[in-house]
Amino acid sequence: MATALEVRTVAERLTADGVPLWVHPEWEARFPWLAQGTTGRGRGDAPFDLGLSGAQPVGPALDRWRALLAATEMHAAVHARQVHRADLWIHREAGSPGIVVMDGFDGHLTDRACVLLSVSVADCVPVSIIDPQSPVVALVHAGWRGTAAGIVERAVNRIVESWQGAPERLWLHCGPAICGACYEVGPEVHAAVNPHLPVPAANTPIDVRAAIAERALGLGLPAEQVSVSAHCTRCGGPDFFSHRGGSKARQMGVLGIRELPS
Ligand SMILES: [Zn+2]
Repeated sequence: MATALEVRTVAERLTADGVPLWVHPEWEARFPWLAQGTTGRGRGDAPFDLGLSGAQPVGPALDRWRALLAATEMHAAVHARQVHRADLWIHREAGSPGIVVMDGFDGHLTDRACVLLSVSVADCVPVSIIDPQSPVVALVHAGWRGTAAGIVERAVNRIVESWQGAPERLWLHCGPAICGACYEVGPEVHAAVNPHLPVPAANTPIDVRAAIAERALGLGLPAEQVSVSAHCTRCGGPDFFSHRGGSKARQMGVLGIRELPS
């Protein structure tokens, strides 16, 4: 991949408190007021499946959500049925305690404390964007369709417009997702995700995270504030669920403001 090579690759670290949450270690040190990361499969007998729309019983899944809220010290979690588009919802209230499941959004923003944003992924990219000065956070589900539809650009632009932010002060991380070697797709996907590049004639792997990082740099985010996870959900072993790997289970990218920084 010839793009976005100047951004850092970061290996998330598995926290050790019972809930399999993989956190960005640099963000953990720099932004201790954030709740952030991506859940994984976990090492126990029962996979830590947080999916709410599959065939699995919802009771055990909700128990895992409650454990996630407790582990992240958050008050409320918000989630939405995802539709591979670029619509965003801004959560302007602290929200009721517990878990709210909405319809039809692939991106969430909030400047409120204790609201845990979440996106369901299993090869698609959970993209976290933070403006530590406002502060405001955005979390989007970016598969190839959402990326092509500009969901990352929309989230960045919304922060800049609604919170008087500036791209130069934003930080962006692409979490665990399918890597640029594993994700073979047709020419139409290449054309949609990388419209400025030559379109291959046949099925070819694509690196959606590199495309997102390149889009972030194009919006004016500093390269040193953009990072990409080292983890591949498909070839990286059993730590994460992979849709292409045959799993129907889902992990969650999560992001929220645990307490407003002083
Ligand atoms: Zn891979």
